[in-house]
Amino acid sequence: MNAPELPQFTYSNKKVDQLLSDELYSHAYGTVFIHTVFGLLVAVIFFSKVNTIFLGLWLGVLLANMLIRYTFIRVWLKSSTEERKKSWMRYMAFGTSLTSGVLWASSVAFLDFHSLPFESLALSLMVMSLAASAALYSAYFIPAFYLSVVPYIGSHLVYHILHFSFVSMVVSSVLMVFLVMLHGQAKRLHGTHRNKIIQTLKNEFLIARLEETNLKLNESSRTDFLTKMLNRRSFDEALKRAWRVYQNKQQPISLIMCDIDHFKHVNDTFGHIVGDKVLVRVANNIKQQIRSEDLLFRYGGEEFVIMLYDTTIAEAEVIAEKIRHKVMNDPIEMEGNLESITLSLGVSSKVPVKGFNSLDLLNESDLMLYKSKQNGRNKVTSVRDESK
Ligand code: GH3
Ligand code: MG
Ligand code: MG
Repeated sequence: MNAPELPQFTYSNKKVDQLLSDELYSHAYGTVFIHTVFGLLVAVIFFSKVNTIFLGLWLGVLLANMLIRYTFIRVWLKSSTEERKKSWMRYMAFGTSLTSGVLWASSVAFLDFHSLPFESLALSLMVMSLAASAALYSAYFIPAFYLSVVPYIGSHLVYHILHFSFVSMVVSSVLMVFLVMLHGQAKRLHGTHRNKIIQTLKNEFLIARLEETNLKLNESSRTDFLTKMLNRRSFDEALKRAWRVYQNKQQPISLIMCDIDHFKHVNDTFGHIVGDKVLVRVANNIKQQIRSEDLLFRYGGEEFVIMLYDTTIAEAEVIAEKIRHKVMNDPIEMEGNLESITLSLGVSSKVPVKGFNSLDLLNESDLMLYKSKQNGRNKVTSVRDESK
């Protein structure tokens, strides 16, 4: 027989891309900060050297854009995963990042390498470092690299190419190499981020499978393989628990112990397979006679015990009789003949009190079962019969 196929780990590229673009925003705070500081620096450096109205307007739009960008990132990061999926905040955060790209591209208007060589060089260096930092975080989502990094560098590159001086040629070559390097770096980083996210998804998958297996193992350690009823271990735990609960409630717990009569004879005559069939049938017949809140356990080989909550001895005796009748009147086919099976039963009941523990209750039902056997089998004996 082949081992059952275990589910294998798979992932969808859509999910990975979604998680990657979520990361894009979680790193954007630093970028907002750098943009603001550099924007102010540009204003200081070029103050009274370029058109003041244009400079003031440029700075005003940049700062407003950063404020909006900050606000949307904040709201976005605070929203739940479900809200994020359908949130337009993501697009706002992304849109404001594009606007800042355009603003820095337009800063090309301040460049003048002839009359303002140092200021212009400072601006070009600032744009290069902004591009470098943007390349780092946009590596989570490569389209973000093309949309936000390329405009900065591109506009300055075009400016220098058009100016055609020696300095311009040097600067444009540097910018071009820089852009290609950034692109390569962003691609490599993207691969690393992607693998990390896939690994995280895989870990989550494995943990979920482990938990599921644990649950199944736990369940199977509490049930009997043959009859699918609860086993002896479950009984010990359930009895202790019920005893504690009913001690507080001051209500009775009843136990019915059942043992199949002359079961060894069934095994010896018809074999163990038939014996197993009998055990399953008897277990199911007992189960049919009890309430859904009562518990049936396979206590040992052909012994069963039933735990009845909030049930008096009189009520438990009635149930025990019902079980005895049901089993007796449901003959089982063995080698072509219908054979009757009978049970001997013992009933005990108690409101938990000090000085009497749950094992005493179990012993009493066991003792009553023994009396039923002694008195000819196929009988119910209760602690009430004994005290009469
Ligand atoms: P009594 O009326 O006194 O209870 O007699 P009995 O033959 O039922 O009692 P005894 O304890 O002598 O025999 C119980 C038999 O139950 C012995 C064992 O082989 C059989 N048994 C226990 N567990 C299983 C099981 O899982 N499958 C089968 N087929 N037999 C089992
Ligand atoms: Mg027995
Ligand atoms: Mg028996």
